[in-house]
Order: sequence, then structure tokens, then C-alpha cells
Amino acid sequence: MPERIPYAADPRRSRGRRHLEAAPSGRSEYQRDRDRIIHSTAFRRLEYKTQVFVNHEGDLFRTRLTHSLEVAQLARSVARSLRLDEDLTEAIALAHDLGHTPFGHSGQDALNACMAKYGGFEHNLQSLRVVDLLEQRYGAFDGLNLTFETREGILKHCSQKNARALGDVGERFIRKLQPTLEAQIANLADEIAYNNHDVDDGLRSGLLTLEQLAGIRIFSRHMKSALREFPKLNDRRLVHETVRRMIGTLVTDLTRQSTLNIRDRAPADLTAVRSTPPLISFSTKIKLEQQELKQFLRQNLYQHYRVARMSTKARRIVTELFGAFRDDPKLLPPESQARAREDNARAIADYIAGMTDRYAIREYRRLFAVDAA
Ligand code: MG
Repeated sequence: MPERIPYAADPRRSRGRRHLEAAPSGRSEYQRDRDRIIHSTAFRRLEYKTQVFVNHEGDLFRTRLTHSLEVAQLARSVARSLRLDEDLTEAIALAHDLGHTPFGHSGQDALNACMAKYGGFEHNLQSLRVVDLLEQRYGAFDGLNLTFETREGILKHCSQKNARALGDVGERFIRKLQPTLEAQIANLADEIAYNNHDVDDGLRSGLLTLEQLAGIRIFSRHMKSALREFPKLNDRRLVHETVRRMIGTLVTDLTRQSTLNIRDRAPADLTAVRSTPPLISFSTKIKLEQQELKQFLRQNLYQHYRVARMSTKARRIVTELFGAFRDDPKLLPPESQARAREDNARAIADYIAGMTDRYAIREYRRLFAVDAA
């Protein structure tokens, strides 16, 4: 057996599950979490949820599902290099977007606005709600009954008010502590994944051009390196050769800088990790370059008029669905109606958040188009 890293999360020393269960055989506690997430309904729905481009806009764009798989792949590579627990990192990465509404961020913003008077809506908190409560598949409990460490990793950020209501997983936001290194990796792998695939999807859709991106430092230096090696590449291959180099640089930098941070602070164990500032990080140079790229994507892709048009439609669909169910809870399917009797607004938010893009569009037609069945 290789020597155990003392500050890695250890499945044999997990803070446990909310409902007591016998230890798994043939797999670790974190492997069991990962397996439950993959078998969940919410995970399959990710296939039809928007990342940036709405599902019907093209077959090759990222969806929440392929995004989550890319995050898991990147996170596992880094966790393996740092000899941390790969299974925990993978479980967190696969579950991190389970609470996302249809239509990406515009869907989330619209639902949050609808829920303003009823405690708001936050996709990150909703991911935890999905694994703690909304998945209904097991005889003994609601949710997936995941370990503390996976649940804590899913909850990336949280207001003080929500933290107080959440109990154990909320504690670290009140006491200003960090989660496991495995969770910190999943968080930054998310960033690597979306920055790079949004560049790729942005170019594929024609919303971004290579000329524009040539003005962005991290892209231009990797594009030059690709052209040095392959001077006659067509655009399609050039984009991939550039993006794969960017991903390589980011993963290497994250691994190298985090190794230095860990060496510097030398945490004795997981408790020490929790009370130390985040140890998983990029170098300053890469952080600045990433910020430049992010800002570019915000201005040129996320706010592009063609994306904005879709966002406006998405907002209308979510807002009007919410209003219709709020006015007449009898329009909700029976399972949601039962929950609506306890907390009407929250049951509606759960129902809408669970919808895929195309389900939401269909539901909208069913409710508002006179000629729809
Ligand atoms: Mg994500």
C-alpha cells in the first residue's frame, strides 16, 4: 500500500452520512457516493440542460452533462498528481451542477427573482437539495444520503443566513473554514473546464472569432505555439490544438502551484487544511490571464446578442411558468402538489429547477398555447 497522505480526505474517516448505513463492500464510501450520483435522475437530466447554448441549438455544444464529465476528468488528474482522494473529487465534480435550472444562468436568475420573497433560489444550494432531498429512489431515506465530505464539497458558497439553516455543512461558512483539498480541486477544475469549452463552443458557433481571441494573452501564446509546430493547420484543428495546450498549461500550473502551497504550509491533517487559506490555487500569472479570458467571454460571448435573445426567452418561460403555478397549484403534477401544500413557492421552484430545457419549453406550450395538448 502506498503511504497515505495525512491531509487527504480518508473515506474510512468520513464524518458519515445523515442516515446510518452499513459500510460498502468492494468500494470506498466516496466511490459509493460517486456511483449514486451517476445513477440519479438529476444526473441524466444534465444531458438536456444548457451550459451556454440551449440544447436545440446544435448537437456538438457542451451541455451540463458533458461539462460535468470534463470537470470530473480534470479534477481527477489533479487529485491523482497530488495523491489526494480521486473518488471524492470525482463525486463532487459530477454532482456540482445537479441543481442547475434549465437555460443556464438566465434560468437561475429568473427563478431567483421569482423566489425573492420566499428565500431566493441559488443553483449551488439546489444541488445540495437534490442530493439531500429531491432524489426519491431509496427505501430508507430521501435523497442519495451522501457522505458529509461530498455534500460539503457540493456547497461551494453559501450566505450566512442559509448556512445557519443548513447545520453541519453550513458550519464552515460561519466559522470561515475551507473544505477538503478534493473539493477545492473540483471547484477550480470547473473553471478550467468552462473557460476552455466556452472558447471552443464560442468559435464553433461563430459568435467568437480567432481574430478576436488572438488579442487574449493565454489564447494567443498557445495558438502561436500550435502554429510553430503545425504551420499549415486549418482553423478547426488549430482551435483544438490551442485549447488542448491551454488546458495542459492550466492543469500543470494548478498542480505545481498547489504542490508549492502544500509544501509551504505543510498541513498535518485535514483539520489543518480546513483552517488554512485555500491551498489549491493557480499561480498569480495564470490567475491574471484567466481573469482576462473570463472578462472577454463575458463581454463577447455571454452578452452576445444571440445569447441575449435566448436568455430573454428563457427568462420569460421560467417567470411565466412560476406565475402560472403560483396562481393555480392544481396545475402542478401530483408529487409537487403534495409538497406545495407545505411550501408552495419552494415546491414550484424545485419543479421548475428540475426541468430540462426542452421540458420547460414543452410545459410552457402546454400551459400557454391554446392549440397545444
Ligand atoms: Mg459547473
